[in-house]
Amino acid sequence: MDFQSAEKKAKDLQNLLNQYSYEYHVLDQPSVPDAEYDRLLRELIEIEEQFPELQTPDSPTLRVGGEILTMFNKVQHAIPMLSLGNAFGEQDLRDFDRRVRQGVGDNVSYVCELKIDGLAVSLIYEDGMFVRGATRGDGTTGEDISSNLRTIRSLPIRLKEPVSLEVRGEAFMPKKSFEALNKARKEREEEPFANPRNAAAGSLRQLDPKIAASRNLDVFLYGIANIGDTGIDSHSEGLDFLERLGFKTNKERRKVADIEGVIEYVNGWVEKRPNLPYDIDGIVIKVDSLDQQAELGTTAKSPRWAIAYKFPAEEVVTTLKDIELSVGRTGVVTPTAILEPVQVAGTTVGRASLHNEDLIREKDIKIGDKVVVKKAGDIIPEVVNVLAEQRTGDEVEFQMPTHCPECESELVRIEGEVALRCINPKCPAQIREGLIHFVSRDAMNIDGLGERVVSQLFAEKLIKDVADIYKLTREQLLALERMGEKSVNNLLSAIETSKANSLEKLMFGLGIRLVGAKAAKTLAQEFGTMDQLMQASRDELTAINEIGDKMADSVVTYFDSDEVKELISELKAVGVNLEYKGPRKVSVEDSDSFFAGKTVVLTGKLEQLSRNEAKEKIEALGGNVAGSVSKKTDLVIAGEDAGSKLTKAESLGIEVWNEERMLEELNK
Ligand SMILES: [Zn+2]
Repeated sequence: MDFQSAEKKAKDLQNLLNQYSYEYHVLDQPSVPDAEYDRLLRELIEIEEQFPELQTPDSPTLRVGGEILTMFNKVQHAIPMLSLGNAFGEQDLRDFDRRVRQGVGDNVSYVCELKIDGLAVSLIYEDGMFVRGATRGDGTTGEDISSNLRTIRSLPIRLKEPVSLEVRGEAFMPKKSFEALNKARKEREEEPFANPRNAAAGSLRQLDPKIAASRNLDVFLYGIANIGDTGIDSHSEGLDFLERLGFKTNKERRKVADIEGVIEYVNGWVEKRPNLPYDIDGIVIKVDSLDQQAELGTTAKSPRWAIAYKFPAEEVVTTLKDIELSVGRTGVVTPTAILEPVQVAGTTVGRASLHNEDLIREKDIKIGDKVVVKKAGDIIPEVVNVLAEQRTGDEVEFQMPTHCPECESELVRIEGEVALRCINPKCPAQIREGLIHFVSRDAMNIDGLGERVVSQLFAEKLIKDVADIYKLTREQLLALERMGEKSVNNLLSAIETSKANSLEKLMFGLGIRLVGAKAAKTLAQEFGTMDQLMQASRDELTAINEIGDKMADSVVTYFDSDEVKELISELKAVGVNLEYKGPRKVSVEDSDSFFAGKTVVLTGKLEQLSRNEAKEKIEALGGNVAGSVSKKTDLVIAGEDAGSKLTKAESLGIEVWNEERMLEELNK
């Protein structure tokens, strides 16, 4: 593609992708399937790689997260971000209304909006372009988190009109994203986030924007800081204006004629809030007229024309009937409270994790106790405390077992951990959970082999270890309950397909302690094959940046076991791929190739290899392949019909090779 046609194509793709993104993330009305969006995005990425100068500041390719920062810069808010006064009940709302009417007379209408439970942010646009986004901080000074905010898909980088303004809003994590994130963290044995608000704040305060990009955050905008400059005269018109500019605003807002309307709105949401796809912790009420707002003014801390109604945290009393124990994949024994089923924030709650023995002691929980239950972040049921004064004397002290509830081997408490573990490698509960992990999406990703089927196969003794999955026969599967011809066919083909997975999927699937999906990838990339990895010493492992002492120990111990060695050779025998298939990383020091440490640009049409294959080979030898020629380029490889890059390389006096010369060097 020449530059001119690439420029046109890139512009078309950017417009199309921004349009699709807006429809999907702001309007919630996607017009194309995700796969189509991804396909177009890949096309644009390729063009921009070839012609980096075509990557405009509003290119959708920038959403994936830019460079890692070393710190956040402090930002002074030109207009302070005030906090709102609180109202905790109807009386507080009526008092607020009385104060407002004393100030500006009886002709007042209000705008009610959901108070999203996230992180307040301020965004600055100049001539319609997003230039900076910051946290609220103490209201006067916040932190510049622009690179993280840019990754939020619903945040427009270019507005529909070239206006300059500062808007305020709330960045948050939808409940769905929160649940998926905590599930993944649990798999990696990382501490889950307590609630979506903490998760959103934690994500936006990461120095690596790729982390924020991966967290599926969202943002609602609810105000214009410098609204006086826009010619708008009410808050509700301001919100409509934001919407016209392309911002995501919350549709549940309502303009009401008086305080009775406010109270009706508030009461309605007390019931409806559990059904929202995001958390809210109250309702914000604002005087609509900007003139009236100006007349009322602000106190030192907060505006007199607005108030935040806070929902009472929904807490319910119920009886704790029993404490059940479950054994996880890593042998950790987790106590779970079995509760008399009760409605909390809109759903029935019958169980709540008690996490570990220490927590039970700390909260002094006994079986038979009346307990207060709430949902943390409105999602995860939690026992808040015990009503000890209501005890009858029949309550029973909970005894953490000394032996595994499934295999009866003695439980151990590993130093520095609160959890009790079953360390019997043959423990059926651990094996079953391990099998479920092995087939899960980030691991071997075997469709049709969910928790239920795995448990069934395990109970029937058809699979005892992960290698057995590959020995399942059609007859065995057909004999299972609820398995028809079609699902068996699909399952067998999914099992077959999974054999070809790249090494990191298997590595993660094996469930080696502390080795999460990311570490599995690093290990696979560094060592390339299972054989190499199994022979790796502790020193070789810790020499890798991301691998710490504990993980290295865990890997060495794992592969030291004869049973594991046996398992790996069985996997090999059934045809499971044991090699890493992605691009290898080779450090400059380890490569004696000519390409090591050199920056290479490929241009024109190659005969023997595709450009991607050539790129992978050069990178495998420690070289860097860049998209454009600059003074930093060491070498240009020019195929047929090489165009402007070749000309540029010649003008800069950079060494130029043909394909033959490259192959010669690659094959050394
Ligand atoms: Zn056990």
